[in-house]
Amino acid sequence: MHPPIRSLVVGFLVLLALFRMLERLRPKTQRLRILRRGFATDLGYWFFTPVATRTVTALATFLVVIPVLWAMYGKVDRNLILHGYGPASRLPMWVQGIAIVAIVEVIGYWMHRAFHRVPWLWRFHAVHHSSVDLDWLSATRVHPGNDVVMKLATTVPVLVLGFAPAAVAGIMPLLTLLAVGVHAHVDWDWGPLRAAIASPRFHRWHHSDEAAARDRNFAGLLPVMDILFGTYHMPKDARPASFGADTPIPEGLLRQLAFPFRRAR
Ligand SMILES: [Zn+2]
Repeated sequence: MHPPIRSLVVGFLVLLALFRMLERLRPKTQRLRILRRGFATDLGYWFFTPVATRTVTALATFLVVIPVLWAMYGKVDRNLILHGYGPASRLPMWVQGIAIVAIVEVIGYWMHRAFHRVPWLWRFHAVHHSSVDLDWLSATRVHPGNDVVMKLATTVPVLVLGFAPAAVAGIMPLLTLLAVGVHAHVDWDWGPLRAAIASPRFHRWHHSDEAAARDRNFAGLLPVMDILFGTYHMPKDARPASFGADTPIPEGLLRQLAFPFRRAR
């Protein structure tokens, strides 16, 4: 097997075992089957997203960033991109790390709202919201168009401002695990930190198809964004019970990739 494919297979099996164990904390009647609705589609995304989507997104990012660096420095090399440049790159790494997370969160919050508000953007993002049996694997169901636009909007400003991506490299695996984990089929929040860090309960409300939860909880990592901008939804005694987009989305990876380009009925 091709090495990245092998690590994706191993990663899938490890996370499947981990999240199945966590799901067993739920009463038996509330657990999802492994082969829950949309499983085959999401398994397709598990391989497609890191291999195809991330390649397209990385290429698009470099196509935008390289001309800017070239204009500013007359050269572009790996070192310049990894370690930043100018005043921002001379800040201590931990300050840069905080700045990068803050920039990505603020832009990411408003971009996510735009994906819900602007009809043609919604057709790309609705694919992510189409899971009716929501669990950790649903995290990979992201249309490449959604990924490219979101990553360009958040990554390009960080790079153009001269911050060193290396400042967040150490926490990237943790952030990726959290991004997967907030979709998990569990009811958790982080207790007293529930308003500080996104939790499964917080993000699963975002996927709920209930009217009260519509267009709520947009933040990727810091729910304080939703508190600040008036979209925070964490009722004390309720839990999200049903999920999905109000736009009918076809099942299957290829049909979903084509969906945003088909004429809206
Ligand atoms: Zn959304």
